[in-house]
Amino acid sequence: MDVFANSAALAALLLSGQAPQQQTPAAPQPVACLAVPGAGVDALMARIAPADQAVTEVFAGVGASDITDHQLTPAERALVREVLAGLPQLHRDILHHHLRRLNFLDLQPGSGSALTRVVNPGDASLQFDITLKASLLHDSLTDFLNTKEQRLFVDDGSGFSIGFDAGDSDALTYILLHETSHVVDQVLQLTASPANRFGAGIWEDPRILAMPHADSLAARTPFRRHPPVPGRHAPAYYQSLSNSPFVSFYATAAASEDLAEAFAWEQLHTSQGQRLTLTVRDSEGLPLFAYAPLETEPARRRFAQVQTFIAQYEQACRVASSRMRSGLPSADETTGGRL
Ligand SMILES: [Zn+2]
Repeated sequence: MDVFANSAALAALLLSGQAPQQQTPAAPQPVACLAVPGAGVDALMARIAPADQAVTEVFAGVGASDITDHQLTPAERALVREVLAGLPQLHRDILHHHLRRLNFLDLQPGSGSALTRVVNPGDASLQFDITLKASLLHDSLTDFLNTKEQRLFVDDGSGFSIGFDAGDSDALTYILLHETSHVVDQVLQLTASPANRFGAGIWEDPRILAMPHADSLAARTPFRRHPPVPGRHAPAYYQSLSNSPFVSFYATAAASEDLAEAFAWEQLHTSQGQRLTLTVRDSEGLPLFAYAPLETEPARRRFAQVQTFIAQYEQACRVASSRMRSGLPSADETTGGRL
């Protein structure tokens, strides 16, 4: 059924996608410093290892074929090392405790390109394997985003097209920020908490969107099990997304994806100066709608919340480090840190 048969319904949906003006929400309580003295990026590089059979079966299950382990070249190892070193301290410290393996797979692609998987569900200290399609080592961020986004739309003869422009950035930095944010989320139980501050007013629970977001066009894509969107509706969909708290359509898939997207894009934008534009064009190539997904007011509020959380962690580590040097008790002992 075409949800736009009634233009009044379309107007109502567009309006409902507009987030009310609000202040930046509070960040969750700061986390005690988890730094491992002396543990550097080399310790994380040592986690690169062949994938478990269970991992290759997951990729095969979503359509991948010819799956083999990828041996990193020296240049690829240098790139991975650089990207890991550029992760926020919060992410690196949690990976030191909770990353079991980092895998790279050569494969004929199906629908999945990256997987973060708990290898010991239910245990007190969760361990994760992160697995990436090896071609991501060479993909540009622009190509990666465009390929992923094309799947949301169906050719309806309108000739409308969509295109991201992320400059000459690599895809790997974004992918590793996104996947490692899933580890941070699960270890700290951010989105699993009923008091998920990153989802306040946005998520009723890890899967159910709060109103008015549940009714917005931004939440009516295949990422929320709706059919692909006819291309002629792309301008209205991106208009709705630009007024929503979601930095991407993918962020609407679940509270955990929303958090991973917010952390990844906040770091790319704030720490690395990433710029991003999205343009919808008509059949003649003329722009119909364009916006900068990282620069909307709702995105800025989400980013400010993430930034505060990450900065508070780094401050906790500075305090812990100075206490250690001066022989005082650690922050864990004095504040009852959660880990
Ligand atoms: Zn994800």
